[in-house]
Amino acid sequence: MAVSEPPPIDPLSMFRLDGQVAIVTGASSGLGVRFARVLHAVGAQVVLAARRLDRLEALAEELPGSLAVATDLSLEADRERLVAETLDRFGRVDVLVNNAGVGQQTSMENETVDQFRFAMEVNVTAIWHLSKLCGVPMVAAGSGSIINVASMMGHVASTPVKQAHYCASKGAVVNLTRELAAQWGRKGIRVNALSPGWFKSEMTGDMDTDESSQQFVKANAALPRMGADDELDGALLLLASRAGGYMTGHSLLVDGGWTAR
Ligand code: NAP
Repeated sequence: MAVSEPPPIDPLSMFRLDGQVAIVTGASSGLGVRFARVLHAVGAQVVLAARRLDRLEALAEELPGSLAVATDLSLEADRERLVAETLDRFGRVDVLVNNAGVGQQTSMENETVDQFRFAMEVNVTAIWHLSKLCGVPMVAAGSGSIINVASMMGHVASTPVKQAHYCASKGAVVNLTRELAAQWGRKGIRVNALSPGWFKSEMTGDMDTDESSQQFVKANAALPRMGADDELDGALLLLASRAGGYMTGHSLLVDGGWTAR
């Protein structure tokens, strides 16, 4: 009896995004720059959004085929224009990385209502709105992947880094993710959160060199260090691509075990 050959296995090809279009918000610094480079490296055309257009244009030069769109995510009209320009240029959107976010260290006694409202507008309302705007063409196409960059601070308290507005907003992102996943799963759209621990960026400032910050990280993370620049790449691609095709409504913690304790 002839023994048939097993089908070839090529799991790495599942992570590719050839021919797909991905929007990355907050692509002017920190994690967003890396996310844009990584998505481009696996074949996606990338739309770069943030307020600092000079930075987006410099990144667009480096990533052929990408589009820079100056966007203030606190403004409804800018959010609408971002998606409209994406559809005008590419005719589709396959991946939305809602990465932009804000937060400041402030004790609850000193936090202002405006500070709280602004964080909710950029960190939550803009994610809700861009998901809605991209969800319409994704539903029409019957496919799409939305990745909401939350935080381990959407799962646990942040103190002694005091930032109630930030924790509230990130917790909201985690549960918004679950609800959108439940609403859109049958329409072919996956919605997941990526929840990092400490990574170097403008937001974390000099944490990587400041001695007391380093002690704080070492004392609290199971892997006693901040994440390295490339240590979100795999999680991002897993959620974005067919490799994560059976994942939705999940918040993937990449936090060196901070929340494991
Ligand atoms: P970052 O370097 O400060 O980057 C924040 C990005 O958001 C910038 O590109 C900024 O661009 C953009 N942004 C802020 N306000 C905006 C607005 N109104 N409109 C448009 N874009 C705006 O910080 P990051 O660490 O890379 O943060 C990226 C995401 O990761 C955030 O959601 C953050 O909460 C999350 N996160 C980070 C860490 C970490 O340790 N780094 C940990 C957990 C979660 P412009 O200023 O040019 O507009």
